Amino acid sequence: MDGQYLVSGVLALFLGIFLLYKRLGKEKRRVSKKGRGDGYVKSSVDGGFRPGIDGSTDIIIVGAGVAGAALAYTLGKDGRRVRVIERDLTEQDRIVGELLQPGGYLKLMELDLEDCVQTIDAQRVIGYALFKDGKHTQLSYPLEKFHSDVAGRGFHNGRFVQRMREKAASLPNVSLEQGTVTSLIEEKGTVRGVQFKTKAGEELTAYAPLTVVCDGCFSNLRRNLCTPKVDVPSHFVGLVVENCDLPLPNHGHVILADPSPILFYPISSTEIRCLVDVPGQKLPSVASGEMAKYLKTKVAPQVPPELYKAFIAAIDKGNIKSMPNRSMPANPQPTPGALLMGDAFNMRHPLTGGGMTVALSDIVVLRNLLRPLQDLNDASALCNYLESFYTLRKPVASTINTLAGALYKVFCASPDPARKEMRQACFDYLSLGGLCSTGPVSLLSGLNPRPMHLVCHFFAVAVYGVGRLCLPFPSVKRMWLGARLIKGASGIIFPIIRDEGVRQMFFPATVPAYHRGPPVY
Ligand SMILES: Cc1cc2nc3c(=O)[nH]c(=O)nc-3n(C[C@H](O)[C@H](O)[C@H](O)COP(=O)(O)OP(=O)(O)OC[C@H]3O[C@@H](n4cnc5c(N)ncnc54)[C@H](O)[C@@H]3O)c2cc1C
Repeated sequence: MDGQYLVSGVLALFLGIFLLYKRLGKEKRRVSKKGRGDGYVKSSVDGGFRPGIDGSTDIIIVGAGVAGAALAYTLGKDGRRVRVIERDLTEQDRIVGELLQPGGYLKLMELDLEDCVQTIDAQRVIGYALFKDGKHTQLSYPLEKFHSDVAGRGFHNGRFVQRMREKAASLPNVSLEQGTVTSLIEEKGTVRGVQFKTKAGEELTAYAPLTVVCDGCFSNLRRNLCTPKVDVPSHFVGLVVENCDLPLPNHGHVILADPSPILFYPISSTEIRCLVDVPGQKLPSVASGEMAKYLKTKVAPQVPPELYKAFIAAIDKGNIKSMPNRSMPANPQPTPGALLMGDAFNMRHPLTGGGMTVALSDIVVLRNLLRPLQDLNDASALCNYLESFYTLRKPVASTINTLAGALYKVFCASPDPARKEMRQACFDYLSLGGLCSTGPVSLLSGLNPRPMHLVCHFFAVAVYGVGRLCLPFPSVKRMWLGARLIKGASGIIFPIIRDEGVRQMFFPATVPAYHRGPPVY
């Protein structure tokens, strides 16, 4: 009997040692997976230790353009530990994002970033001038109710972004580094971080509970986080016009040209940005001189005479740049651990200069949603909560997006008599003054983000056009034209509204995610 007890005792001892050993082994493996136990993890690519998921970084931001830089400062100011990875930290010379609407300026103020337009020779913009067939009308922003500082701003995009980057990097809890993010690191459907390449070609990884992708209009990373439906109706060809004054100082100028609009607005005390819209996928070649010829023969005769000489000089100077004008409705696939922002998420035609306003407004929405959260580590609870973002952003985003798409179509020349009538009706409606000009301008400027007002003004233009056709005596031909005008107007606006989402746009409170509260841990 005693022998049996002895054997069982020895076996139990061995079993105990075996289980203890196994447990210790597991513990050891867990520690080495986690890293040094101080919040750093071992990189799967280079074997080095980096700020990791359990401590040193709260949020990774991919791209430090308008959206990324503003977001980094905002979240950093709220005490988050932010790691920004930007492909190129030098000041860029771009033709995009040079006119900030007053609504965007208000958002800059909300984010405490308005000083970023103060030392860059930015120009105040107080309204628009609209030109058609030698006539023009002045459309002022309704700024009376706002602080005297509130207005639009024209500037060099690179200077503005650089100020925001500097401001973000001045926070001790924000790190800004140069690198190109090559992919998102996903584990069982949750984004854990990013893989990126440094300037020296070294491949590294970074981990955080939340990754915000702000890699702009050419985003390579968005396809993991949304279903992109990108449309490129035209390109903007950009020139800098110097040594001349705008016909209406401190105004954006829109010329309703043939085949499509031309824009002028100040970007410094001595420079005016000109953007010429060229419809279609193909551009005349700059290298062969075809572009200069197109600008001189087709475009120059349509620019206001005050700008003609300087416009020709700008062509001769030769610094001609172009960018595709993309539009892409927001179509997110909510993914735990990651979020899209800025042009990577949502784009609209740049005719109305609304992209930065939408991006900054989205940042305010996201900041307010994240503020009550201490801990971002429960990725699926966070993802579920942040679904409200897609509805809360809609009033501003869908108003600006819809107006940009609709105005672009209305402002393009067309051989169709109904479209011609609509274009003329739009110019004349805006020239009526009062609510007919301040209404649409306050929508465009981001000062009145109400989608229903937009639809009302759009159809008021169409009805105004039909009314003119039918007065004083309606003929069958004119009534038929009026019917086609209404049909054309509907054909312009309804597809855009459908893409924006009727329910989110007009009845956001009926979307369940709208009411979602922060997760309780
Ligand atoms: C021709 C044109 C004119 C426009 N004019 C106006 C205007 O007047 N007013 C206005 O409000 N909007 C305008 N827009 C739209 C506006 O430019 C954008 O809405 C705005 O710049 C969006 O900011 P973003 O941060 O998303 O993108 P961006 O400002 O383009 O920033 C993206 C950043 O991500 C970085 N990046 C890209 N890929 C990677 C990667 N893999 N890894 C790391 N970093 C990466 C880029 O280097 C860049 O710094 C215009 C657009 C166009 C096309």
